[in-house]
Amino acid sequence: MRIVIIGGVAGGASCAARARRLNEQAEILLIERGPFVSFANCGLPYYVGDVIPEEAKLLVASPDSFRERFNIEVRTGHEATAILPSERKLEVRVLGSGESYQVDYDALVLAPGASPLRPPLPGLDQEGVFALRTLPDARAIRDFIARRHASRAVVVGGGFIGLEMAENLVHRGLEVSLVEMLPQVMPPFDPEMASPIAERMTREGVRLLLGQALASVESDLTVRTREGLAVPADLVILALGVRPETALARAAGLELGERGGIRVDDQMRTSDPHIWAVGDAVEVRDVVTGRWGLLALAGPAQRQGRVAAASICGREARFRGVQGTAIVGLFGLAAGCTGASERALRQAGRDDFSVVTLHPGHHAGYYPGARPITLKLIFRTSDGLILGAQAVGEEAVDKRLDVIAMAIGKQATVFDLEECELCYAPQFGSAKDPVNMAGMIAANVVRGDLSLALWEELNEHAGLVLDVREPHEFERGHIPGAVNLPLGQLRSRLAELPTDRKLLVYCQVGQRAYYATRLLAQRGFAPALLSGGYRTWQNRTAAQTPQVAR
Ligand SMILES: Cc1cc2nc3c(=O)[nH]c(=O)nc-3n(C[C@H](O)[C@H](O)[C@H](O)COP(=O)(O)OP(=O)(O)OC[C@H]3O[C@@H](n4cnc5c(N)ncnc54)[C@H](O)[C@@H]3O)c2cc1C
Repeated sequence: MRIVIIGGVAGGASCAARARRLNEQAEILLIERGPFVSFANCGLPYYVGDVIPEEAKLLVASPDSFRERFNIEVRTGHEATAILPSERKLEVRVLGSGESYQVDYDALVLAPGASPLRPPLPGLDQEGVFALRTLPDARAIRDFIARRHASRAVVVGGGFIGLEMAENLVHRGLEVSLVEMLPQVMPPFDPEMASPIAERMTREGVRLLLGQALASVESDLTVRTREGLAVPADLVILALGVRPETALARAAGLELGERGGIRVDDQMRTSDPHIWAVGDAVEVRDVVTGRWGLLALAGPAQRQGRVAAASICGREARFRGVQGTAIVGLFGLAAGCTGASERALRQAGRDDFSVVTLHPGHHAGYYPGARPITLKLIFRTSDGLILGAQAVGEEAVDKRLDVIAMAIGKQATVFDLEECELCYAPQFGSAKDPVNMAGMIAANVVRGDLSLALWEELNEHAGLVLDVREPHEFERGHIPGAVNLPLGQLRSRLAELPTDRKLLVYCQVGQRAYYATRLLAQRGFAPALLSGGYRTWQNRTAAQTPQVAR
C-alpha cells in the first residue's frame, strides 16, 4: 500500500508517523512544498520576538529523521498541483526546477493547511506588509525589522496570532498599534472577558484601535482605516484570519462544506473513498452547538491526522468534533476558552443556558502570591450540562480550563464540577478549587437555590440594585443607582428593603452577594444575584466603551 500525504506539518506529519506505527509495510510519502517539515508554527511569533532566538529550535523533525526513525520519504520543495481521483494519481511539481511528475496512491491524505487572508485592498502587496504562517515568513519579518531599523509596527487583527505578534513586537522594542474591526480583541471571547486583555495590552503600551477596519496601506506603510484613522508604520503585520487551502480538493471535485472547508466524515474521509483530509483545511463539527465550522488549531489537526492514519490502516478511530479549546499568553496574562461562548450560543438561536462568573484566587488566599482568575461558566439551565467556559488571569488559568474542557468532552454537568476532586496544597489551589466553586454556584442555580439576574436587566430598572459591600468599597465605586447595605447589617435592616420588588444583589466578586441572596430568599424577599459582582460590571462597562486612541 502506498500512502501519499500532502502537507508535512501538524496534520500531515502526525498522520505519517501514526500510519507508520500502525503499518510497517506501507510505503509512506510526504509531499511538502515548503523547505521544512514538522516545524513549530505556533512558536513563530516568539521567534519574531526573539523569545526563541534560534530558528533551529522550531524544527521539530527533518526529512532525515523521518527517514531514519520511520522509514517515511519526505520531499520538501515539491508541490502537489493536481489530483486525478479516477486514476488515483497525484501530479507534483518540483519547485526550483519546474519539473513535474506523477505519483500513484492507494490512500491520499490532504493536509495543506490554510492560507492567511489578504483582502483585495490597496497597498497590501508591497514590501513591509507581512502575514505570518511559515518559518520563511518569520525570517522575513525579522530580517526586515533589522534591515530597516523598524521602530513602529501596526498589527491588523486582534485574534490569537495578532495578539501574540503585538506582544512579541513590543518585546523586540517596537512601538505597536493594533487595528481591529470589532469593538473587542479576541473574537471567540465574550466582550466582558476580552476587556481585561485589552486593558493589559494598553497598560503595556500597545495602542489599541478597536472598531477600526483596515482600508489601505499607503506606500510609506501608513495604515488607513475605513473610519478615517491614519496610523504611521515601518512594518505592517496582517493577522486577519485564515482561509482553508481547498484548491486541490475543489479541482478534484471533492465535496466542500458550507463554510468553505473540505467536508469529511468522522474518520476524516472525504467524498472520495481513497482520499482523507485533516487540519485547517477541513470543516469540523462543533460538539456543543452541533454546527459545522472552521477551526485552525494544532491540537485538532494532529488528532485528525491520527484518526485518518487509523482509518487508512483499517482501525476503528473516530474524530469526535471540536470544542474550540484555546489559550493565549499576553504580557503575563493568560486568556483561554473552551466550548461555546454566550455569543456563539445566541447566534445558534439558544437561550436555554445560564452564566456564572467568579473571580477566585488561583490558590489559597492565605498563601503568598494568590492572583485572581476571572472564570465564566456557561451551562444548560435545565440540567446543568456544561456548554462553555472562558478564563482570564495571571496564573493557572490553563489548568482550570483544561479540567472544564475535559468535562465538556465527557458531556459532564455542573454537578460533576461541584464534585470533582482536584489537586490541593496551598500553593496550587484551594480545598474549594475555582472549578469546584464554579460548579457549586452553577449547581445552586440548577437546583433552584440561587436565582441569577441577567446583567442586561440592569438597564431595565427591573428591581432594586443592592450592593452588600462595605461602605468604603461602595464609595470607591458602585453600579449607578445601587443602594448600599453591607452584608453584616442585612439581618438587622431588612425592614428597609422592599418586598414587592426584585432585589438585584451584588458585592465585589459574588461571594457576599450569594450569602445575602440565601438570607433574603429565606426571609420572604425575591433576590437575584448579579454574578461576578462589581468586578464583572467593570469588565462589562469597559467592553461597552471600547478604547479608540486617536
Ligand atoms: C503564527 C501561528 C501561531 C499559531 N499558534 C497556535 C497555537 O498557539 N495553538 C494552536 O493550537 N494553534 C496555533 N496555530 C495554528 C496551527 O499551527 C495550525 O492549526 C496547524 O498547523 C494546522 O495544521 P495543518 O497540518 O492543517 O496545516 P499546516 O501546519 O499549515 O501545514 C500545511 C502544510 O501543507 C503545505 N502545503 C499546502 N499545500 C501544499 C501543496 N499543494 N503541496 C505540498 N505542500 C502543500 C504547506 O506548505 C504547509 O507546510 C498557529 C498558527 C500560526 C501560523
